Amino acid sequence: MAHPPDPVAELLHVSKLYGSGDTLVKALDDLCLRLERGDYVAVMGSSGSGKSTAMNILGCLDRPSSGSYRLNGVPVESLDDDALADVRNRQLGFVFQQFHLLPQLSALDNVMLPMIYAGVPAEQRRQRARLALERVGLGQRIDNRPNQLSGGQQQRVAVARALINQPALLLADEPTGALDSQTTKEVLAIFDELNAQGITILLVTHEQEVGDRAKRVVQFRDGRIAS
Ligand code: ADP
Ligand code: MG
Repeated sequence: MAHPPDPVAELLHVSKLYGSGDTLVKALDDLCLRLERGDYVAVMGSSGSGKSTAMNILGCLDRPSSGSYRLNGVPVESLDDDALADVRNRQLGFVFQQFHLLPQLSALDNVMLPMIYAGVPAEQRRQRARLALERVGLGQRIDNRPNQLSGGQQQRVAVARALINQPALLLADEPTGALDSQTTKEVLAIFDELNAQGITILLVTHEQEVGDRAKRVVQFRDGRIAS
């Protein structure tokens, strides 16, 4: 008998508090969020509504004050810091507004980097990185350094890097925030294609155009989901 597929990631009644006493801030307030395999979710909401805090928890960069985060069925709060770092490297891919590529490395070397930490043999690293760059349309630019690439191309290198260890979930915080409208379209086309290939994506954006491309939009307000 068919059973419902497990979610990739699930926040269960997650709260996050900063400070104490008079300065106590409830950045997340009993937040529940479920990401199915193949989901493509855009998180929107005004500044201070808790988007980055939620992203940091989903990315295992921060821990909830209370509640549970399950990634591929594993309660993340049960993991120590080493195990968490391993989860970050193997199960999660990150894309940031400012690309965060290493300027002294070629596109190929930037994409190879996460595989070094994951212990992939050297000969496989080069081959897989080359394929990943072809997948984002940069097969001809693998030897270029970031400053020899446009913003859209740099972000595509960052996407290739984020996907190189075949993560369960791709997280992107304002991935088009530093791009003009033409390069925004390029990067969104890549996200569409990746999602069509089954990759689960969650991104934070304040641009309606970006939100419209996702399968669903989750609106944050005061650390909770408003709609
Ligand atoms: P958004 O990304 O939607 O702008 P954030 O998740 O960054 O919102 O912030 C949510 C709330 O938590 C805000 O009130 C913010 O000031 C507060 N906050 C976020 N990070 C910290 C921190 N490290 N220390 C104290 N308060 C924080
Ligand atoms: Mg933010």
